[in-house]
Amino acid sequence: MNRAEIWERVRQHRGDWDMIVVGGGATGVGVAIDAASREYDVLLLEQSDFGKGTSSRSTKLAHGGVRYLEQGDIGLVMEALKERGLLLQNAPHLVHDLAFVVPNYEWWEAPFYGMGLKLYQLLAGKYGFGKSRLLSREETLEQLPTIKTDGLRGGAIYYDGQFDDSRLLIHMVLTAFEQGAALLNYVQVTSVTKDAQGFVDGVVARDVEASEEFRANAKVVINATGAFTDRLRRAADPSATPMIAPSQGIHLVFKSEFLPGKSAIMVPHTRDGRVLFAIPWHGHVLVGTTDTPVPDATLEPVAMESEIEFILSTAGQYLAKTPSRSDVLSVFAGIRPLVRAEGVASTAALSRDHVIHIDPSGLMTICGGKWTTYRHMAEDCVDQAATLAQLGEKPCVTRELRIHGYHASPQEFGKLGVYGTDAAEIRKLIDDHRELGETLHPELPYVKAEVLWAVRYEMARTIEDVLARRTRTLFLNARAALEMAPTVADLIAPELGWDNSAKTNQLAAFREVAANYVLR
Ligand SMILES: Cc1cc2nc3c(=O)[nH]c(=O)nc-3n(C[C@H](O)[C@H](O)[C@H](O)COP(=O)(O)OP(=O)(O)OC[C@H]3O[C@@H](n4cnc5c(N)ncnc54)[C@H](O)[C@@H]3O)c2cc1C
Repeated sequence: MNRAEIWERVRQHRGDWDMIVVGGGATGVGVAIDAASREYDVLLLEQSDFGKGTSSRSTKLAHGGVRYLEQGDIGLVMEALKERGLLLQNAPHLVHDLAFVVPNYEWWEAPFYGMGLKLYQLLAGKYGFGKSRLLSREETLEQLPTIKTDGLRGGAIYYDGQFDDSRLLIHMVLTAFEQGAALLNYVQVTSVTKDAQGFVDGVVARDVEASEEFRANAKVVINATGAFTDRLRRAADPSATPMIAPSQGIHLVFKSEFLPGKSAIMVPHTRDGRVLFAIPWHGHVLVGTTDTPVPDATLEPVAMESEIEFILSTAGQYLAKTPSRSDVLSVFAGIRPLVRAEGVASTAALSRDHVIHIDPSGLMTICGGKWTTYRHMAEDCVDQAATLAQLGEKPCVTRELRIHGYHASPQEFGKLGVYGTDAAEIRKLIDDHRELGETLHPELPYVKAEVLWAVRYEMARTIEDVLARRTRTLFLNARAALEMAPTVADLIAPELGWDNSAKTNQLAAFREVAANYVLR
């Protein structure tokens, strides 16, 4: 997958594309996979890097959403549990099951949560991940050795899925490409074009790298821009009523000593009525999240002080050692593209169901939903897009479609397991050049060969693409990412033809972004 070659293909393309998808997050890339695998002719444009938006900033759970069960949204939970099962089936190198323990401190919690979690397990049917059950105090401490013991009565254990969000996304981009889609990162759609009847028939876009404008026509344009949805809708129709209620969520990352072992903590009711997770992830602990309404979407949202304080203090209520600011290795924020609803008091209560909307101009928008349900969202969207564009009906094939790199036993590749079958190729790079096996930082497992792999075969274009979304360094340990950046720049420079001044600019741009992930 090479950006210059894809550009050439796009330039050579004659006639209308069947579909142009705007937005390279889970939703847009999911649509591109679905459309291409039905043999529709599809182009996807992403203004920044694939996954730069919300899709790299999630809690990384392939889940049905225990909380939505409490809200009575059984249909949504069942659908998401089924999608969780399909994700594990089609991407076992990137999704795995994880034990979650709800610690109980009050007498009523064990029967209450025990019943709810049993129902959660039953709703998964044949897509189940494991049996939920009540735990004694001793068993709870075995699972969570660092949980606060004062007043601890026991716990309830259940199973859900965990994944590496942006790594899955990159493998989805590769899947869409292999199915015949053309996908470009760093191409921003600036406006839409319309035919004589006023229907959207294409896009005007700008190659951010070359600062060049280009136009492309399509039978249908699909807006999959997440929290930016209303901006593109207003470009097509300035009077469009907003659909999105953006809501920010943050996570803090700590050393694994705060939660050693393999089980996660799930707190069903925090002070603000949300769920809080503390989850082992890539040898670290991820704690989140918040739900704070924000006025608008930004590509690099910044965690608010109140959110940081809330997570630190809530985590401190459950962990034997209260984490402090100086323990935070990375802080990251993301924006939920929630669909607005009348009469709903808080963003936490807004439905996570997806919506497909067609504006009078013919611009099709897909928004809402969850990472977990991207495949089902894409199936719905492509069904409707094909009808709108009067394309021949073709059945969806993604239920059985394996994600790039599929490997049933990825653990045999050790730390490179998330690459699936690509791990063997990365190992070959190392066999040919032993120095590429060197780690980039003593506190993280990433090796130099992964940088070259990302640039050569995964369309990484910047230091940030490599450190934030191909490897997860910036999300795991922001200071380590800053320390690694010069070596990463040296490795990328000859690959992308950067001279010294380009390298200096790239480093400065990375330092500016990385500053948002460091807690002072
Ligand atoms: C804190 C938090 C935790 C979450 N945890 C989970 C979880 O554990 N499990 C789960 O299932 N879901 C979770 N979610 C939800 C999930 O992350 C989102 O539903 C999903 O990532 C949305 O994907 P998207 O593609 O719609 O949006 P995005 O990932 O934001 O993608 C939209 C893309 O469109 C691009 N774009 C915008 N405008 C343009 C333009 N003009 N031209 C070209 N490109 C453009 C943006 O750059 C962006 O990359 C969480 C969300 C948040 C915020």
